[in-house]
Amino acid sequence: MSESIIRVAVQKSGRLSEDSLKLFKECGIKFESGSSKLRSVSSNFPLEFLFLRDDDIPGYVEDGVADIGVIGLNVLEENKKKVDIVKELGFSKCRLSLAIPRNENYTGLNYFEGKNIATSYPNLTNQFLSANGVKSQTHEISGSVEIAPSIGLADAICDIVSTGGTLLSNGLKEVAEVFKSQAVMISNSSLNSEKKAILDKLLFRIDSVQKAQNVKYVVLNVEEKNIDLVKSLLPGMKAPSVVPLAQEGWYSMHSVISENDFWDIIESLRGAGAQGILVLPIEKMIL
Ligand code: ATP
Ligand code: ZN
Repeated sequence: MSESIIRVAVQKSGRLSEDSLKLFKECGIKFESGSSKLRSVSSNFPLEFLFLRDDDIPGYVEDGVADIGVIGLNVLEENKKKVDIVKELGFSKCRLSLAIPRNENYTGLNYFEGKNIATSYPNLTNQFLSANGVKSQTHEISGSVEIAPSIGLADAICDIVSTGGTLLSNGLKEVAEVFKSQAVMISNSSLNSEKKAILDKLLFRIDSVQKAQNVKYVVLNVEEKNIDLVKSLLPGMKAPSVVPLAQEGWYSMHSVISENDFWDIIESLRGAGAQGILVLPIEKMIL
């Protein structure tokens, strides 16, 4: 019986590449990646990478040429391939937005009635506008969409935006968000049980990495009389660890706190007599 291996399609070079590879590395998966490589087999996990143009990834996963892939939700929703979304990855966050020349007076979505809109995402754009009762034409172009209004090709555009800087430098302003995107992991919808088991193992590792990204490890010193008060402020995974220090009456406490309430907790800890507070990143978190 041949050893099973899972084939992963990732973008060869572009806005998804670096973070996609980083994710696999953080999962402890070792592999070589060079700019000229088109495929790479991991040395310590049953996985092979295929490095491709991002637009080709959903089709390859649908056909089973690749078993799984990392792709922007915008590309996936535009092309409607039959694949399963198995994980939101939280990077390459961006939005598909409608933008018009900066000096135009925007009156709401009805502004787009009868207008010509240049975009690389005609399906998402048309769906959004018709769902809002607006009739307009899209003009599909594959790149440099932002210059379309200034060269007279279109009245407006619908394009990917993250900070809005490119729009501004092309004399445009963002007026409506059409679609919110981030990188997702997709899977072929009929993986055999061996490949499914490998995917589950991978997803478990990704979960541990993602959980760790939202929490910090905190270590602090506290006098015995303040232990209970400090304990009440530290949720911990079960309960905080309390370890005696070499100095009589003093203890070290260790716990895990969420990134979201980080500053609130730190301030109340200081108020409760905690000293020498150290906050450390957590690499993996297995619950
Ligand atoms: P390819 O050469 O592989 O076809 P591309 O030029 O089509 O690449 P990129 O510009 O690398 O694509 O973008 C890939 C994906 O990254 C987009 O589909 C989108 O999901 C996301 N993305 C695009 N622009 C940004 C941005 N400014 N910030 C964050 N994510 C973005
Ligand atoms: Zn592309």
